Amino acid sequence: MELTIERATELQTKPNWNDLTFGTTFTDHMFVMDYEVGKGWYDARIMPYQDLPLSPAAVVLHYGQTVFEGLKAYKDDAGEIFLFRPDENMKRMNDSCERLCMPTFDGQFVIEAMKQLIEIEKDWVPEVEGMALYIRPVMYATEAHLGVSPSKNYRFIVLLSPVGSYYAEGINPVKIAVESQFVRAVKGGTGAAKTAGNYAAALKAQEVAEKEGYSQVLWLDGREQKYIEEVGAMNVFFKIDGKIVTPELNGSILPGITRKSVLQLLRHWGMDVEERRLSIDELLEAAKNGTLEEAFGTGTAAVISPIGELFYKGEKTVINNNEIGPVAKKIYDTITGIQSGDVEDPFGWRVQ
Ligand code: PMP
Repeated sequence: MELTIERATELQTKPNWNDLTFGTTFTDHMFVMDYEVGKGWYDARIMPYQDLPLSPAAVVLHYGQTVFEGLKAYKDDAGEIFLFRPDENMKRMNDSCERLCMPTFDGQFVIEAMKQLIEIEKDWVPEVEGMALYIRPVMYATEAHLGVSPSKNYRFIVLLSPVGSYYAEGINPVKIAVESQFVRAVKGGTGAAKTAGNYAAALKAQEVAEKEGYSQVLWLDGREQKYIEEVGAMNVFFKIDGKIVTPELNGSILPGITRKSVLQLLRHWGMDVEERRLSIDELLEAAKNGTLEEAFGTGTAAVISPIGELFYKGEKTVINNNEIGPVAKKIYDTITGIQSGDVEDPFGWRVQ
């Protein structure tokens, strides 16, 4: 498919990188392509960033047929721009599309379009350590039709948004509330897909937790509320008795790309790693008997987010004296080092 480019006639003045609030500043251009059943993907274009019309009857507004992704572009000291494992994001987005009965697409074509878009917007990639250009691909159902069936039309957009350092004030462990009322996803549901409904379903628990002074919730499984799944919008890891344990991918957990990278790194370092079911009772028992050494979340936004305290059924459990542990620190330094080009990349994760 051909990619056409329409340049914006007026460019915005770049913001002060230090004043960025996540996800509120967008660059001058975006990538768009459209889909129609029987015709396939068409009209791939880079165009000035703008609002796009949508029918009030569009399927996405009524039945939530939409998927998205999140990844980042980084500038190294020489000013070269790199993406981190974009093929993994495209693969996951196509998996999400399958789950939501949406059309799949050529991931390599979108990566190439993304690279061209970023090349046009290269001055929007902050050169400051820890900052990056956040890339948000999103696809949604545009057919005007109130029948509950897959839409015949879709739009695919890639937005770019410069983001500040997640840890401008240093890595401070977060306080987490273990969620025992609401659930995020169920076996057989859409938990493994990156689709809007999962995030809408999670807002209430997040709101309640924040009111009580916690920054995120730890999700338990949707059936028995017994087994650990994820933390906020991150996957979760624990160090118990010298071993690293993370919940196995069971269909209701989002298969994080940071999770996959962390597992690869830990195995590369020869550490003992277990992907298995882990109950909240086993975890709290490990904390009581002193074998719970570390806990941390993993995701594109923060890379690593250490967990300093868990709150469950009225009881607080402090982990590793509320400090970042050595494994979390080593992973954080290695992955951010690979992303910024300061650490050698033996896995081919950086893509130019
Ligand atoms: N779980 C959920 C629910 C998420 O939204 C994210 C962020 N994409 C993650 C885990 C972490 O995934 P990744 O490492 O690919 O950012």
